[in-house]
Amino acid sequence: MVGLPLTQNNAAWYLGEHGPLTATLKGFQPRPSQQEFALKVEESIQYRGTVLAESGTGTGKTFAYLVPALLSGKKILISTGTRYLQEQLFHRDLPTVAEKLKVSVTAALLKGRSNYLCIDRLEQSRHATRVSVPMRDELEEIFAWSARTKTGDKSEVSGVREDSEVWPWVTSTVDNCLGSKCTHFTKCHINVARKKAAEAELIVVNHHLFFADATLKEDGFGQLLPDVDAYVFDEAHQLPDVAGNFLGSTIGHRQIEGLVTDIRQAEIEDKSGIPALLDRTADVEKAVRELQLAMGKRIQRYSWEELVHNQPDLESRLKDLATSSSKLVEILAKAADSGDHLERCYERAASIGGQISKLLEQLDSNTIRWVDVTRFGFRICETPINPGPVLAKIFSRRNTSMVFTSATLTVAGDFGHFRSQMGLGEVDEYSWGSPFNFADQTLLYLPEGLPDPREENYQRALSEHMEPIFKSSRGRAFMLFTSYKAMKAAAEYYIDRTDFKVLVQGDKPKAELLEAFQRNPKVILCATMGFWEGVDVQGDDLVVVMLDKLPFESPGDPVLKSRLARMEKDGLNPFMEYQVPRAVIKMRQGAGRLIRDFDDYGVLIIADPRTRSKRYGKKFLESLSEMPQTSDRNLVSNFLASI
Ligand code: SF4
Repeated sequence: MVGLPLTQNNAAWYLGEHGPLTATLKGFQPRPSQQEFALKVEESIQYRGTVLAESGTGTGKTFAYLVPALLSGKKILISTGTRYLQEQLFHRDLPTVAEKLKVSVTAALLKGRSNYLCIDRLEQSRHATRVSVPMRDELEEIFAWSARTKTGDKSEVSGVREDSEVWPWVTSTVDNCLGSKCTHFTKCHINVARKKAAEAELIVVNHHLFFADATLKEDGFGQLLPDVDAYVFDEAHQLPDVAGNFLGSTIGHRQIEGLVTDIRQAEIEDKSGIPALLDRTADVEKAVRELQLAMGKRIQRYSWEELVHNQPDLESRLKDLATSSSKLVEILAKAADSGDHLERCYERAASIGGQISKLLEQLDSNTIRWVDVTRFGFRICETPINPGPVLAKIFSRRNTSMVFTSATLTVAGDFGHFRSQMGLGEVDEYSWGSPFNFADQTLLYLPEGLPDPREENYQRALSEHMEPIFKSSRGRAFMLFTSYKAMKAAAEYYIDRTDFKVLVQGDKPKAELLEAFQRNPKVILCATMGFWEGVDVQGDDLVVVMLDKLPFESPGDPVLKSRLARMEKDGLNPFMEYQVPRAVIKMRQGAGRLIRDFDDYGVLIIADPRTRSKRYGKKFLESLSEMPQTSDRNLVSNFLASI
């Protein structure tokens, strides 16, 4: 291969035609782009460089970074987008590559705190009084498992649902963990997992954990992850959004009510006997309920100003909560001497009280305060309007090698949008297209004659327009929507058409839906954003992917509104420089569901007429330029009939 130094000492050789993967791994084919990518990762690890690497579907990016990481002899941290990908990497890809390379490295999988059993809280749950019968059964199952687990990773417990109410009872939060004062500290599952990670040569985490650690370090409060020589961020396009959730602060009914519950429990354990303690606790509970009532019943996100404007009692209810919290802190200070549990509650109450009082202060000019009113409660959040400078600080402080990779980092071939969101300066940028032959394997269909998507009849017209196409494809289609309402409307339309079996997101867990999609003939799967990425259906079970609209974010979101207003004030064009690029990346993710292998064929449908009628539509189409375009439905039907 031209330009690639394939000596036996480098990562490209191991992935090449004479390397061990080609020789011994069934189905593995050497790919030049994968080898080039591996060399860039190798260089980055060696010279502490920062690399942005866009690597199209089918390039084999996981092996491209695993091979140099395993060969480097350095301490490496790999961060993936989700826990599912983390498990897949750790349990499947990593052992496969290590075995073929004949290298032995110590590796550790580390998840966030809420994934591990807290032995102390499990013990405390024995004395819990407000436990329902189903929860009691689940607790018994967890007790039985706790005696045999070596990791304390709750994913081992198959009989208790992941979202069961029992988990918060037996897992810890930063707030309620007793830390080194805990009597179970040495065998605590989280501490054992962190110790293993500290000693391992390769650590696999997810982006949430990475940012949880980064914000702790930023605040100077400690660390969850060890220092490493190199970071690899897979699915890096998700980083700006995940980071947005960790920068800034949040206080909500959940933390306050959790504290109230734990104080009552701690009093049973530590027995301070101070009569006013439970009264002051009840006062806080009442104040938080009244604050919630003052927010109104409408489930929505508001900017703080907007909610204060709509709900005149809000600020005085917040002051009441601040007052009752500080009285609770005073009395907990006295109770704290009675035992570790009450002492920890005191520290938490002081921290929560501080956060509540801060809500009464003025904000700095780069922060927005907003409120999420939900069915059961609320969250009040403070978020940086422009997270770039905060992220720049987080990344520049590391002074190590960093590789950011994903199939979708660019917009029309440009990394600028990703770089600016991440606060990255000039770095090395590489893009390797997919090895698939999109010219032969795909058609991009842009329908004509559909109404404007903002019109009432758009969804109905869309369903009618697609029906002949789905007949030609014999189902085998994903209809991906930008809203739940649109998804429901399409599902109802097709459920009445007996030609197809219709699967709808939310009716079953994702894995079961995908399994049913592949098992049944003539299926249409209707889904929203949860299926636009991380879904991999190979072969001819999936031959049509339809995107109902260009995936712009809701302009009503208060954080987005503030970001756009700030950009406008700075003389930028927020629509073209922020909203369009983000929508292009989301669209590319959705489109990426269609072709997953060399033998896959299919039609991508972008139904939104604005793709053709608006000037910005060009930005979307430029990212799909390898696909032949058509607006001829007959051509589409013929193409599909041949698959
Ligand atoms: S150290 Fe914290 S997480 Fe570990 S068992 Fe104790 S309270 Fe639970």
